[in-house]
Amino acid sequence: MRKRITVLGSTGSIGTQTLQIAHEFRHRFEIVGLASLGRVETLVEQVQGFTPRAVAVSDPAAAALVRGRIDTNHTEVLSGPEALTNLVAAYECDMVVVATSGSVGLGPTLEAIELGRDIALANKETLVKAGHIVMRLAERRGVDILPIDSEHNAIFQCLAGHSREAVRRILITGSGGPFLHYTREQLERVAVAEALNHPRWQMGRKITVDSATLMNKGFEVIEGHHLFGLPIERIDVIIHPESVCHSMVEFADGSILAQLGPTDMRLPILNCLAWPERLPNTIQRLDLASIGQLTFMEPDLERFPALGYAREAASRGGTMPAVLNAANEVAVQSFLDGRIAFADIARTVRCVMDRHEALADPSLEQLEEADQWARVRAEEHALATHL
Ligand code: MG
Repeated sequence: MRKRITVLGSTGSIGTQTLQIAHEFRHRFEIVGLASLGRVETLVEQVQGFTPRAVAVSDPAAAALVRGRIDTNHTEVLSGPEALTNLVAAYECDMVVVATSGSVGLGPTLEAIELGRDIALANKETLVKAGHIVMRLAERRGVDILPIDSEHNAIFQCLAGHSREAVRRILITGSGGPFLHYTREQLERVAVAEALNHPRWQMGRKITVDSATLMNKGFEVIEGHHLFGLPIERIDVIIHPESVCHSMVEFADGSILAQLGPTDMRLPILNCLAWPERLPNTIQRLDLASIGQLTFMEPDLERFPALGYAREAASRGGTMPAVLNAANEVAVQSFLDGRIAFADIARTVRCVMDRHEALADPSLEQLEEADQWARVRAEEHALATHL
């Protein structure tokens, strides 16, 4: 029987690549549900290509457009703020791919775990914001959370067959982003177009900016802490501009295992969809001899303070990572809108964190309150620093 899959965020970067994989291996995977915030054209094409049982479109106007253009005898269209959660709840599947951007993925992810559906997780905010709640529920329900993020997928592969006690630390690699060699002065004057031009990976706008500030690496430290149950002190970041080694695990005996591969997100996606099987595919192979050499260096927290702030938020725990995430989301949007400078992104996050008194072991409601509080503070800070 084919593995039944629902894709949340199907029209985004990870979502469309997931569907490429699902198409290439259509004898193995069946698409049951799709969800998009409202990119009507792409979604209609996807529905025609995969005839899922249902699609969720949060925006009612976009949902009406989709309804008018597809065969609703085969595919039901759900809409409204609960559309994604309802899609996950109403249509049985084996795995939910969470590829939404920002915070909208959390509710449907918790619903999917509650119902015992395995999760392939590409959305970082889910773990950054509410990792303790997500992982606790997953353990209680016996649900596997498979990481699509290339670094965590690499670590996941390296850990296979080893006990947690055998692990000394994990090493998350990062390309260093487009501004690896910029001075602090240059970083002040970065233009939006420069920040959106990542040297190694083609990704959505939010994550591309997060990669440029290294906040993305910080999020990945927090993600790793939850996914692999390791304290923050045992998660290191190492800059590796070639992006060939996708992360490593150092074991108690001093051995380091690494996963290497092409910089193509379809590989970790396929790994999650097919796990524990490994399927031959048409993705371009890695040619190590033509790459020649691999380099590694320490990250510079002076020039890229966001990474340090993320580590600090994770160590302080409670509501602090949610505050970090929310402040960053607002700051990145303000930068993309041309309202604040690139270096103001980290400054905004710092300022909001400094004003927050973290609450230990927060409930979802308390996390949501902290999130909203941080968004308002970040907006105020962005207004105050208006260009
Ligand atoms: Mg990554």
